Amino acid sequence: MKLEQIGEFGLIARINKKVGRRNRRVVAGIGDDAAAVWASPDEILLLTTDILVEGVHFDRRIQSFWQIGWRAAVANVSDIAAMGGLPRHALVSICLPETVSVEQVDELYEGMQAAADEYHFGIVGGDTVSSPRDLVVCPCLFGEVEESSLVLRGGAEAGDLICTTGELGGSQAGLAMLQRVVSPARDGPAPLPENEWSAVRERHLQPRPRLREARLLAQGGVAHAMIDVSDGLAGDVRHIAEESGVGAEIFEEKIPIGSQTRRVAQYLGASGLDFALNGGEDFELLFTISPDDFPGAAKRIRRETGTDISAIGKVLPVREGIVLVSPEGKRTPLLTEGYQHF
Ligand code: ADP
Ligand code: MG
Repeated sequence: MKLEQIGEFGLIARINKKVGRRNRRVVAGIGDDAAAVWASPDEILLLTTDILVEGVHFDRRIQSFWQIGWRAAVANVSDIAAMGGLPRHALVSICLPETVSVEQVDELYEGMQAAADEYHFGIVGGDTVSSPRDLVVCPCLFGEVEESSLVLRGGAEAGDLICTTGELGGSQAGLAMLQRVVSPARDGPAPLPENEWSAVRERHLQPRPRLREARLLAQGGVAHAMIDVSDGLAGDVRHIAEESGVGAEIFEEKIPIGSQTRRVAQYLGASGLDFALNGGEDFELLFTISPDDFPGAAKRIRRETGTDISAIGKVLPVREGIVLVSPEGKRTPLLTEGYQHF
């Protein structure tokens, strides 16, 4: 059977069936943002790995080595954040083709160390091998979380509000513009002035996961379910709904899409909504919360981190399905067209 016949998520489900045996030390295994396991009777360890492959996740013509290092590190931080925890230690393995110089490896590690300093973890090991063609960076990040702060994808309850931090679609807008600069369209429109897309450019080149916001949402069980938005909003809403055994409605006009994302979408003849629903790598948080807790949480997060949170939908009973509601009130199934390997 070909991989494309079952797709990335079908394959992960198949692997889970084969090896995903749980024992009493495993709190969350395959299927959440990170694995959560009891390290001792009063300590939960979080484990995650997110691999970066040249040509799939980055392009050396677009990203500097520093930015590739930063991105590799923070993708993993974002998954630890989504569990409500704090990153502690990383192992980083690298596969290096001969086209990479020593100085470029230095730069890669400077980017990773900058992320480690920003998010307070240490790089404590790894592995170094040659690669026949492409550069591969594979960090494995270990974190910690108190039992009371652990947030899974499966905790959403009918009646909860579905919320997101910050803005969505910006990373995809930035990437689309960076690709346009690398390979300009023949007879295309005049280039968009730099200051009309500099913020989304930054969002793509140096994403900043919402670790502090996640901790505030996790403490005291404020967020019932949480995931980081790494594959596009549509797919990540589906992950929460499926793991929680619930339905969901998302109101199109409530999805926070920034002005630069809309401007870039207009310039490229694309849609800002599509960037938000199906574009990857925003590294915002998607979570559910009781409506009673929303105003207090929004205020506290704004005060302590400067980040806005938006209520974009509601958790429904499972029989209602997962739907997108247009500004006119039209309900359509929320399709997932985000990035899937294979
Ligand atoms: P995320 O986008 O949050 O990084 P993924 O979609 O990469 O999550 O993975 C979803 C879940 O599947 C995670 O729990 C991850 O650990 C698990 N997973 C992915 N690939 C494999 C694999 N090859 N073997 C075992 N578990 C895997
Ligand atoms: Mg994740």
